[in-house]
Amino acid sequence: MSRKYRRERDKRLRADANDQYVEVKGDFAHYVDDPYVKPGFARAPLSDEVEVVVIGGGFGGLLAGARLREASIEDLRIIERGGDFGGTWYWNRYPGAMCDVESYIYLPLLEEVGYVPKEKYTRAPEILAHSAAIGRNYDLYRGALFQTEVTEMRWDDEAARWQQDAETLRKFQHSCLQCSIINHFGDQADSQRFLSRKNLSRHGQMHGPTCTHNVI
Ligand SMILES: Cc1cc2nc3c(=O)[nH]c(=O)nc-3n(C[C@H](O)[C@H](O)[C@H](O)COP(=O)(O)OP(=O)(O)OC[C@H]3O[C@@H](n4cnc5c(N)ncnc54)[C@H](O)[C@@H]3O)c2cc1C
Repeated sequence: MSRKYRRERDKRLRADANDQYVEVKGDFAHYVDDPYVKPGFARAPLSDEVEVVVIGGGFGGLLAGARLREASIEDLRIIERGGDFGGTWYWNRYPGAMCDVESYIYLPLLEEVGYVPKEKYTRAPEILAHSAAIGRNYDLYRGALFQTEVTEMRWDDEAARWQQDAETLRKFQHSCLQCSIINHFGDQADSQRFLSRKNLSRHGQMHGPTCTHNVI
């Protein structure tokens, strides 16, 4: 059995490794535009210090935020490029999009939020609504920065703090935040690299394991 799994794994290893990805620019640039927000968003630049910064407001970031709240961490900021929580389910709204793992297993924090999915395989709008419900339930909207992208993180040895630079999308207003702990829940697509055009599909772009990066 393990030999069989090894063979399947080996089939998927590619000699071009990260070179199989292309930068999201030129013909691909529109893939990072957010069609779900009103144009012209602006917020005054921020310069502050918090205990924990969570980068990404998908399930990973929401779960981290929820667990941190349960551990009485109040001083918390979720920074999210999109206009709301949901991550994959914020970005993917094409007709018929739904989860392919049973919803009772797939959707996080159902009992905590007090929600029972309507169907065995939940549709995208319901998952997006559940993401917002998690945000409300754990008071994660407080301190959240939407339409904001973390562009750089640096460890300050002397202060023993992380420093993040974040840009408000479109207006490019610069913010500088400091914190002692960072959780990053961006995925492969969020590292601004997509599969080559040959392999490009909307589902394929987002479906995959979450990677952690120290520098964005
Ligand atoms: C149609 C579809 C069906 C799926 N069905 C299933 C399923 O049934 N079961 C399953 O296990 N998985 C499924 N998936 C995979 C799904 O992506 C994961 O289950 C999960 O939602 C990923 O959560 P995440 O928080 O790790 O990443 P994401 O949901 O991708 O969230 C990451 C967030 O981080 C933000 N971000 C990234 N970098 C930055 C930055 N520098 N600054 C600010 N914000 C940033 C992004 O905007 C994004 O919103 C499905 C995916 C799709 C598209």
